Amino acid sequence: MTLGQALAAEVRLIAWCKAGEQRAEPVVADLVARYGSDTAVIDWARRLRCSACDGREVDFVVSGATRRGSRTPRLVAVGGRLVRCRSSPTT
Ligand SMILES: [Zn+2]
Repeated sequence: MTLGQALAAEVRLIAWCKAGEQRAEPVVADLVARYGSDTAVIDWARRLRCSACDGREVDFVVSGATRRGSRTPRLVAVGGRLVRCRSSPTT
C-alpha cells in the first residue's frame, strides 16, 4: 500500500514508540504532501523516529476507514517526527 492509496481508502495510520505509552496518528494527507503519493507506507514507517527518546523502535498499524462524524484527536507530523511519548510536551 502506498500513501496515496491510504489516502484514497481513508484509512488511518497509527504509530507509536515501543518505549512509550502514547501514540501519534498523523494526517495521511500531510504525509502524501510531504513524501509523495507513491511512497509505500512501509517506507514511510521506516523513517519514523520518536521525538521524545529519539528511538527508532517505532511501530505502526493501518487502521480501518475513518468514521465520518466522530473526530478523534490527531497529532500533526512536524519535521518528520511523528511520535510523542512520555514527558514530551504537547503543543
Ligand atoms: Zn520514545
